[in-house]
Amino acid sequence: MNHHDILAATGLSEQELNGGTLAVFSPIDGAEIAKVKETAASEMPAVIAKSQAAFKAWRKLPAPRRGELVRILGEELRASKKELGALVTLEAGKIVSEGLGEVQEMIDICDFAVGLSRQLYGLTIASERPGHKMSETWHPMGPCGVISAFNFPVAVWSWNAALALVCGDPVIWKPSEKTPLTAIACMKIMDRAVKRFGADAPEGLVQLVIGGAEIGEALVASKDVPIISATGSTRMGGIVGPKVMARWGRPILELGGNNAMIVAPSADLDMAVRAIVFSAVGTAGQRCTSLRRLIAHHSIREELVERLAKAYASLPIGDPRQSTTLIGPLVDHGARDRMLAQIEKAKAEGGKVQGGRTVTTNVPQGGAYVEPALVEMPRQTDTVREETFAPILYVLGYDTLEEAIEIQNDVPQGLSSCIFTLNVREAETFLSAVGSDCGIANVNIGPSGAEIGGAFGGEKETGGGRESGSDAWKGYMRRQTSTVNYSSELPLAQGVKFDL
Ligand code: NAD
Repeated sequence: MNHHDILAATGLSEQELNGGTLAVFSPIDGAEIAKVKETAASEMPAVIAKSQAAFKAWRKLPAPRRGELVRILGEELRASKKELGALVTLEAGKIVSEGLGEVQEMIDICDFAVGLSRQLYGLTIASERPGHKMSETWHPMGPCGVISAFNFPVAVWSWNAALALVCGDPVIWKPSEKTPLTAIACMKIMDRAVKRFGADAPEGLVQLVIGGAEIGEALVASKDVPIISATGSTRMGGIVGPKVMARWGRPILELGGNNAMIVAPSADLDMAVRAIVFSAVGTAGQRCTSLRRLIAHHSIREELVERLAKAYASLPIGDPRQSTTLIGPLVDHGARDRMLAQIEKAKAEGGKVQGGRTVTTNVPQGGAYVEPALVEMPRQTDTVREETFAPILYVLGYDTLEEAIEIQNDVPQGLSSCIFTLNVREAETFLSAVGSDCGIANVNIGPSGAEIGGAFGGEKETGGGRESGSDAWKGYMRRQTSTVNYSSELPLAQGVKFDL
C-alpha cells in the first residue's frame, strides 16, 4: 500500500492529518505525510483539570465495570489491527509483522487488564493485638500522564492505559512528536470504545496532547498528575524523574538499555545465531531491549562471528511494507548519523567492523537505511557502554562465567540480558543474586520480545520502573493499610502503656 492508502484506511480526517503545523515524516522515504495540530501549553491546565474531574467519577465505578471498557477497547483494537499496524509501519518504519505485533501486544494487555479488574487484591494481615483486624486495600491514585517514545508508538500507551483505567485512573497521553498519527488513530479507537461503553465513562477519561518536551513538562510539573509514566532516553528520564519526585509525584521510568547475551561453550549455536540476529537487527536495532553486546566464550567466539557475518550478509534490507524485508529504515537521518559516528569511535578504540554502511540501492530513496554492524572489540570501552539506538552489535570475549557476568553488568543501564548455555549451573548462576543485574534475565532466549504477562522494566539508568504484567498494576494505585479495633479495649502496639 502507498502512503495515501495507509492513511485513508485509518479513517483520519483531513483536519486530523493536515490541521496544524507539526510536520510528520515517514521513515520509509522521509516524505512529509501530515501536519498535525499541536496542543498549546496554555491548554494544558484545562486538560489536567478535566482529567481530575474525570477521576472523581471514574474512581467510584467498580473495578470490574472499569474493566468492561478495556474489554471493549480490546475488541476495537482487534477490529482495527491491520490498519493500525500499517500506520505503525508508515510512521515508525517497522516491518509489517512487527507493526501488527505491536497492535497484538495492545490486545494482549487489554485481555490481561480485564482479568486484573477482578483481581486488584489486597491483603489481610495478622494483628498483634486481640480483637483487631489489619488489612491492606488498593485505591485509585489519580490522573496518569503517559509520555512515550517513537519506537513503540502505540504499545507503550496501551501498557499504561489498560492498567491505569482498570485501576481507576484517567490517562493523559503525550506521544513522541515523531509519531503523533498513530496516537491520533489510537484515540479514535479509544473514543469508539468509550461510546460503546456508555455514560459511565466521564468526559476526559482518556486525553491526548501533542507536542514536544514542553508539553510533556506541563504534565511533569503538575501536582494534579500524581503518576508520570515516562518511556524514552535516559537523558529524558534524568530530567523528568527528579522533577516528578520534587513535587512528590510518582514516576514510572522506562529508559535506555544496553542489553547483552552471554554465549557459553555448551550453547546451541544454531539457536543462538537465530536469537542474536532477531534481537540485534530486528526493528533495525531500535528496541529498548535490542541486543547490543555479545559476550562470547573465547572457544566459540570466532566461529560465532563467522556465522553471524554470514547471516548478516543475507539479510533483506529495504522497504518495511514488503513482506520479504527484515530490516527497515532507522527513524531518521539523525539516527543514521549517530550510528556512523559511534562506529568511528569504536574503530578508534580498536574495534574491527563488518557492515555498518549506509544503504542506498534497492531501498526507497529518502529513508535512512543501514547495514547492521558487527563490531569486534578488544574490551568493553566507553563507546560500548553507551546505548546507540541503531543496529550495532559489539562482540566481546570471556574465559570464565564470573568474568562474563562482570562484563554484562559493567554498564550504566540494566534493562535486559540473557545467556545461551545448556549447563544448568551456568544458567542458574546467571539468574541468581550474583548473576545478571537487569530487570529481565533470560536463558536460551534473546533479550528482546517480552510477553506482556511479566513485569517489564530495568534497573540503574533504565529507571527502575515496571509496567505491563505481574503486579506492575500496583504502580498505578495507592496502598492503604487499615487497622480495625472490634474489641472494647484500646491496647497499644509493642506493649506501650499510656494509661490516662
Ligand atoms: P526521547 O527521550 O527523545 O523521547 C521520549 C519522549 O520523552 C518523547 O515523547 C519526548 O517528547 C519526551 N520528552 C523529551 N524530553 C522531555 C522533557 N524534558 N520533559 C518531558 N518529556 C520529554 O526518546 P526516543 O528517541 O523517542 O526513544 C528512544 C529511547 O527510548 C531509547 O533510549 C530507548 O531505549 C528508550 N525506550 C525505553 C523503553 C523501556 O521500556 N525501557 C521502551 C521504548 C524506548
